[in-house]
Amino acid sequence: MQGTEKREERVLRDRKGRIARKLRVSVTDRCNFACLFCMPEKDKISWIPNEQILSFDEIERVVEVLASLGIEKVRITGGEPLLRRDLEELVDRITSIKKIHSVDMTTNGWHLERKAEALRRAGLRGVTVSLHSLRSDRFAKISGMDALPRVLRGIDRALDVGLNPVKINSVAIRGYNDDEILNLIEYARERRISIRFIEFMPLDGLGMWNYERVVPGKEIIDAASRVYPLEAQGRGNNETSSIWRFKDGRGDLGLITPMSEPFCDDCDRIRLTADGKLLSCLFDTDYHDLRHLVRNGGSQEALADMILKAVWKKPDGVGYMPWIKDGWAKPRNMNAIGG
Ligand code: SAM
Repeated sequence: MQGTEKREERVLRDRKGRIARKLRVSVTDRCNFACLFCMPEKDKISWIPNEQILSFDEIERVVEVLASLGIEKVRITGGEPLLRRDLEELVDRITSIKKIHSVDMTTNGWHLERKAEALRRAGLRGVTVSLHSLRSDRFAKISGMDALPRVLRGIDRALDVGLNPVKINSVAIRGYNDDEILNLIEYARERRISIRFIEFMPLDGLGMWNYERVVPGKEIIDAASRVYPLEAQGRGNNETSSIWRFKDGRGDLGLITPMSEPFCDDCDRIRLTADGKLLSCLFDTDYHDLRHLVRNGGSQEALADMILKAVWKKPDGVGYMPWIKDGWAKPRNMNAIGG
């Protein structure tokens, strides 16, 4: 058990034996978009007060401790991470931490055209851009921002400056964009970039989620394989996506299926929220407040102890919550967790 391991052997193991190697760091809960499946209504949003948001120094300190406990890959997210001023400075700091192999980012793409080069120079490896529609009117309706051309320019810029991989994330929602699946795939194929469809999870702020609105991954693969010759690559250990390669070499298609085919048994991800809480599972209701320790003179050792204990209690995951198909009274929506 973790308490008896020698210091140099410590890893972030939970009671099911899963070991965390990947970290998502949310740098803000704020977003300039208001995606239907993520944010609450404008007048119901209460942003985390600025003074509660971790500074770059504080994030760096927590990531250093996590790296010493086996975290190797970091993804920066939010909210919208590029709303955080000078984000490239944080990228530079995290890429410099010993044992961190890669730093990637998930973004809505709004600031990407302007920021891509600086991010690349700071050491960012790749970027995943959320793109749920290729029709301007619909893009605006789903994301709350009339921004399609700008986001597409951001994707092109990311490719130009050599961020690698550049990927697309699409959340398919029944009745909203499920008729665009093939168009989105074709857009990605033309650029030879990977596209991932994520099943709609009950982590939305509007309370619009219900299981009928989830487009199961199988439906997407059935539609795609009627048009494109595909080769199944499976889901690698600890990966979220099951991958299908286009046989003509034009990139690949991934399905992230937390609702229809959960993949909790080898989950190796944990999250740090913008206000410094450690979350060991998207569907956890237990937040472990690291900020308190960071700001009140807690030693690296005390932080490590708290993190080890928190990860040990990681829940089994959404795959063990079959009742969730009937809905979930969740404590936080995606923008506040850090997707
Ligand atoms: N603002 C950035 C963006 O738009 O990509 C990063 C944060 S966003 C919360 C991260 C990812 O979570 C996005 O790809 C988004 O589409 C996805 N997401 C948000 N709410 C979701 C939900 N309820 N179900 C599934 N995916 C969701």
